Amino acid sequence: MLSKRFMTIKQSRAMRSNRDLRKMGEFGLINQIRKWMTSSDPSLIQGIGDDVAVVKIGRKSLLITTDILIEGVHFHRKWIDPYRLGRKSLMVNLSDIAAMGGIPKYFLISLGLPKDLPLSFFTSLYKGLRIGANRFGVRLIGGDTSLSNKIIINICLLGEARKQGPIFRKGARVGDGLYVSGTLGDSALGLKVLKEKGLTRGPKTLIERHLSPLPRITLGQRIAEHRLATSMIDISDGLLIDTTHLLEESEVGARIWLDRIPLSNLYRKWIHIFSKDPYRLALSGGEDYELLFTSPPKMRKAISTLASESKIPITCIGEILPKKEGFSIIIKDGRKYVPSHLGFNHFK
Ligand code: ADP
Ligand code: MG
Repeated sequence: MLSKRFMTIKQSRAMRSNRDLRKMGEFGLINQIRKWMTSSDPSLIQGIGDDVAVVKIGRKSLLITTDILIEGVHFHRKWIDPYRLGRKSLMVNLSDIAAMGGIPKYFLISLGLPKDLPLSFFTSLYKGLRIGANRFGVRLIGGDTSLSNKIIINICLLGEARKQGPIFRKGARVGDGLYVSGTLGDSALGLKVLKEKGLTRGPKTLIERHLSPLPRITLGQRIAEHRLATSMIDISDGLLIDTTHLLEESEVGARIWLDRIPLSNLYRKWIHIFSKDPYRLALSGGEDYELLFTSPPKMRKAISTLASESKIPITCIGEILPKKEGFSIIIKDGRKYVPSHLGFNHFK
């Protein structure tokens, strides 16, 4: 670190702004950008603030989303092979289309690449992309390629809303149940296993949950088709932080019951070895790529039918309250659970 005395004005400004970014965090910055860039456009249905942007073109609603994976931040070459890396980079984008109940269609991919990568890296990367794309019926239509010190993969995915319309983060109403698909925490626990034991010494299924996530595309579409949800988001940064995004957009509060959080048998078996708090990774670990949605009480039966037909567990983990009630997590005995952090937030 440079001593303050020897810093140029430019360096000292850079340091101050870094401190600011640390204070604001990722979401503070996004909120600021949102304020700077507000614009009114009758064809723009949803700009910054949801899982995807929604633009009306003719009678159709176009869904547009982008996500970036950066070496050293989102992945390490020693843990993920290029095949899985290619597939995962597409899956994380697909998950945002799933969160709208949408139909994914086309994608562009931009690559930042160090010079020393062999051709075999690209054959595997594009095999992963091809297999992922075929599975979900999407097509690669372009991209960009540049030199970079680290591997950077950015995908921009386009999709279409179902005729019942996209499901937004806003729309949750007081009295709605809060539901989550699948189980939570496996991916974060898989990552912890990788960090502490390496690729070959941990439980493979948990590691795979981290390296090979599967977006809930069909489930999202069923939820839209049957108009089961008043609001929806995918869990990428962690249940708690993504719940707060949904609550903020809907301008409501919520209560989650800790003992209702769905955990897999594998998670229950291994969590005690890696964490003192059995719920921390399930609540705040992130990269679950499950769907979190709100639904009025009259839909309860239809949701359990959907869960059994699709063979994906859907659990009611809480309820929507008026905004003034805030957001709390309740332990079985009625006390409040205080999380050490809400979830993944760059710069914090
Ligand atoms: P998700 O976790 O679903 O991918 P993000 O938290 O990344 O969503 O983004 C939330 C919202 O902020 C989205 O509407 C996204 O398009 C927007 N967003 C994120 N980063 C930027 C940025 N640098 N400039 C403008 N909008 C951004
Ligand atoms: Mg999302």
